[in-house]
Amino acid sequence: MIAHNLQEIRQKIRTTAIQCGRDPATIRLVAVSKHFPPSRIQEAIRGGQLLFGENYIQEAAQKREEIGNAASFHFIGHLQSNKVKPAVQIFQMIETVDRFKLAAALDKELKLQGRSLDVLVQINIGQESQKSGILPQDAEGLLKQLLALSNLQVRGLMAIPPYVDTPEQSRPHFRRLRLLAEELKDKSYFFDNGHVELSMGMSSDYTIAIEEGATLVRVGTAIFGDRPEK
Ligand SMILES: *Cc1c(COP(=O)(O)O)cnc(C)c1O
Repeated sequence: MIAHNLQEIRQKIRTTAIQCGRDPATIRLVAVSKHFPPSRIQEAIRGGQLLFGENYIQEAAQKREEIGNAASFHFIGHLQSNKVKPAVQIFQMIETVDRFKLAAALDKELKLQGRSLDVLVQINIGQESQKSGILPQDAEGLLKQLLALSNLQVRGLMAIPPYVDTPEQSRPHFRRLRLLAEELKDKSYFFDNGHVELSMGMSSDYTIAIEEGATLVRVGTAIFGDRPEK
């Protein structure tokens, strides 16, 4: 079932990309495996999926132990500064850097480990009061500060837009995130300004996100089915 779902989603990614004049190879699928057991991840790996997204450090640590280096993991949850050590050990990318204190803690830990790490800056694109992410108007200030943290490689932006009733309603949020990324790219705030990552789009709206420029789509239930309770 998982392999079948993956195949269908890959096909949709491909046709959507081609329809809007994009190279399908520039879009990566992040299989969001939170709450699902390692056996499901193994099943997805057998279906050719090698990149996963996880929201919780402890859960991800256990999965990393079982899966080993057969797959890559992106952190897509809310990260506390006191969890940077395991986070740096487990993940190939942290998609949710949204404050300087957290970034500085990550950078310090990376210096101790003698390596660097790809990160994205999470934007609160809908300017919602309870939500993680930095407000769009504060993004430039944070990115400017991040330039000083030499072990962090800021690859782009990530957002979780407000909950909406129909997928099409996500489009203006995706578009705003892309325009913000373009503005920041023009000022050379990213590690590679020729290739800026945009992580946006989930099970219900990833094709719309691709039309608006997503390079990473985070898809959970459309691959794995309904999530079990934690
Ligand atoms: C759970 C989650 C997803 C996946 O959501 P689905 O609707 O299951 O595709 C994507 N992004 C983030 C940040 C998540 O927490």
